[in-house]
Amino acid sequence: MKKHPGTTVIHNGQIIDGTGAPPIANGVVVIESGVIKYVGPADTAPSVPDDAERINANGGSILPGLVEAHFHATYFNIRALEDLDIKYPVEYVSLLTSVNCRLALECGYTSARSGGCLFNVDVWLKKAIEEDLIPGPRLSTSGREICSAGGLMDWNPDFRKIGMEGLVFIINGTEDARKAVRALVKDGVEWVKTYPTGDAAAPDMNDHHTLCMTFEEMHAVVATAHNHNLKVTGHCRATEGIKNALRAGYDCIEHGTFIDDEGLDLLLERNVPCVPALYFEKASVERGKEFGLSQRVIDGHQETLDGGIESAKRILRAGGRLGMGGDYGFGWNPHGDYARELTFFVKDVGLTPLEVIKCATKTGAEIMGRGDEFGTLEVGKLGDVVVVDGNVIDDISILEERGNFIAVLQGGIVKAGRIAPPFPTIVKEE
Ligand SMILES: [Zn+2]
Repeated sequence: MKKHPGTTVIHNGQIIDGTGAPPIANGVVVIESGVIKYVGPADTAPSVPDDAERINANGGSILPGLVEAHFHATYFNIRALEDLDIKYPVEYVSLLTSVNCRLALECGYTSARSGGCLFNVDVWLKKAIEEDLIPGPRLSTSGREICSAGGLMDWNPDFRKIGMEGLVFIINGTEDARKAVRALVKDGVEWVKTYPTGDAAAPDMNDHHTLCMTFEEMHAVVATAHNHNLKVTGHCRATEGIKNALRAGYDCIEHGTFIDDEGLDLLLERNVPCVPALYFEKASVERGKEFGLSQRVIDGHQETLDGGIESAKRILRAGGRLGMGGDYGFGWNPHGDYARELTFFVKDVGLTPLEVIKCATKTGAEIMGRGDEFGTLEVGKLGDVVVVDGNVIDDISILEERGNFIAVLQGGIVKAGRIAPPFPTIVKEE
């Protein structure tokens, strides 16, 4: 991804640097050749060349680019799970992903970690974004997911005579687990996404207290993935599933819904981050009826929501790390609503806006394994910055509205927001 060759000065705004430090009133950020050169009060800001680009924050807020830590580029605001793999062919879904990526950037998300996608779309999406062919967040890829036979993701009945191989590797035992990971290694993904447990979405056979993989399968996934320098994460709701994943050596826990004391100790022992993705549960409860979810499914989401709020609070209060990601891409929880997760964590979970912003920036970048490159406004980091009208500490929901963004920068280049130039059409040369 290209960087801005010159100097950019962002001024007249309060700086929230993403480290959790108190805001700096009337702050200035100077970006030179795409990299942050100064962050601090206007009084002590260095002088810059006359031709420097100036961005006036209008007395609003200047913060690091947001990181969506559980991003499903190929989920196209579906109404039912099976839409994910059989409604549209991969060709059309690929086009939809580029729309989702542009939207994410316009919403202030300069980076995103994939939580699973159709075929190997996110690996190629990342290439197109990195080569500046389409606008979108810097991506960490995960490709297809892994789930055991009969588990949450094995929903196509045998009489349909179609498998799940576009979306998930359905495995039976450790040999299949290794085989699936090796295929992902060849695909070039960075994360292996698995399904240790079920979900409220499948109350009959794979609910949120059901295990969908054995410990041995999960351990085989981790050993094979780590051998090739891939990281492993998993959809973990049930208490035993969370602990199995942590004992197997998982690098991240998605949801961590019903964590107990032992699970919390295991999580903290290796400082494993957790991405609760909770606003999805609230949206499922509030809007489920409208989309035809049964009362049983909605009740399960309510139980998940209550358990998830408790677990997220416990993890953060015990010194653990939370990433902000929201499983966006369902009809009731569509792409573009990403920052609702942040508002939810302030209003419903009780975190402070500074805590939530740190989770959504610094921790997100750490989960991507790129904490030394971006995620905070610090000297030497990439100029991935969002400039937004209004005080996000007083009202974090300002971030939910695309129209509030003055500028969204990647590597010092204004890519979205009110002052953004039209995105240039690039003719790719081979
Ligand atoms: Zn997900």
